[in-house]
Amino acid sequence: MPEQPFLERILISEEQLAARVHELGRQISADYRGKQPLFVGILRGCILFYADLMKNISVDCTMDFMCLSSYAGTGSTGHVRTMLDLRESIKGRHVVIVEDIVDTGLTLDYLMQHLKDRGAASIEICCLLDKPSNRKAEVHPKYVGFTVENEFVIGYGLDYNELYRNLPYIGVFKKQ
Ligand code: 5GP
Repeated sequence: MPEQPFLERILISEEQLAARVHELGRQISADYRGKQPLFVGILRGCILFYADLMKNISVDCTMDFMCLSSYAGTGSTGHVRTMLDLRESIKGRHVVIVEDIVDTGLTLDYLMQHLKDRGAASIEICCLLDKPSNRKAEVHPKYVGFTVENEFVIGYGLDYNELYRNLPYIGVFKKQ
């Protein structure tokens, strides 16, 4: 691949992503047999991960989405806003939140508080990437694709100022 000015290096290849997402799908399907889970994708970072994960889910399930905003550029603002809410009630449902990356944990901490009041039977988090070294809130994802260092990553749904979501791999962003 020719050198890309925005890319420090590829961290997780397309093949590694596909293999791990396949495993996660199998694990979640086994855990939720007979429970008809609701997969809540957190837009927009989840898009590629969500689509690939769903293709590996073998139990009956439903899908819904939320859009939260907390980031500007490469830094978390700490203020989370709900830009788009769920369409369906989650009362009595087994909810799996599908998120691109857990960094400070502030976004998911806000979301968990918000959803717990709505009467779900259970709520678990499935994130593609986990950056535990940067945690500021108590958030414990049950399903984690890869644990990464404290570097700003792009690709496979993750952006830098809305660019690079379409890259098929996860790369480390090169600051200009
Ligand atoms: P948190 O609230 O856990 O700090 O951050 C959650 C959101 O920040 C993620 O869903 C993601 O959109 C964004 N984010 C955190 N770390 C990164 C990163 O390394 N790269 C990109 N592109 N977004 C990130």
